[in-house]
Amino acid sequence: MNHVIAIDGPAGSGKGTVARLTAKRLGFRYIDTGAMYRAATLYIRRQKTDINNPAAVTAAVQQCSISFSLSEDMQEQYVLLNGEDVTEEIRSPDITCLVAPVCSIAGVRTYMAGLQKAARDMGPLVMEGRDIGTVVYPDADLKIFLTATIDERVRRRQKQYKENGIEMDFQQLKQDMSQRDMIDSTREHSPLKKAPDAVTINSDGMSVEQVVDRIITLFREKTAK
Ligand code: C5P
Repeated sequence: MNHVIAIDGPAGSGKGTVARLTAKRLGFRYIDTGAMYRAATLYIRRQKTDINNPAAVTAAVQQCSISFSLSEDMQEQYVLLNGEDVTEEIRSPDITCLVAPVCSIAGVRTYMAGLQKAARDMGPLVMEGRDIGTVVYPDADLKIFLTATIDERVRRRQKQYKENGIEMDFQQLKQDMSQRDMIDSTREHSPLKKAPDAVTINSDGMSVEQVVDRIITLFREKTAK
């Protein structure tokens, strides 16, 4: 059975960067499940599917094809929706606001979890999201719950937006992120929750390299047994 490292945590905890670098250092594949939900949300919006109709949303999500591709130097990962590169579009603030309701739908989650479970057959991987250690891979070799204080998470997201040329107000972003955390943590299906056997890492004051080193050490300890 191929190795799996599951990394869960709230928005802005640094999961994306940490998971990508961990995968690179171990030579594993990296899968960003948030990007899968974002791409599905973009499809729903483009199709003008009624977001209040769970059956229609589930049916639409099952129709679209979501895949990943790597740049030639293997440094960048692109998200493809029906073959089209939507990497930037799925990070826009309006998709970010729509994604939480789409991914609270049970049918959407079951379908996505099926795709995510199948990914293991293709090789060892680092998968990041909200429910990877609890629902998708309860048998992962290592489960990490990555957190940081809300102010630190808002600062990181604000910086990410800025790098993409989008200015966001700190208080507004804090309100949006707290709201999304609340929806993610309290939804009925697969809420954001630490698995009992996950290791919590609070990344406040830690560099990305320090977090990655810690994860790799934990992974080696776990798999050496
Ligand atoms: O990680 P990211 O912010 O890109 O995730 C976008 C949204 O997708 C989250 O707010 C969350 O609602 C949802 N998500 C989820 N389950 C996952 C990954 C992401 O519900 N495994």
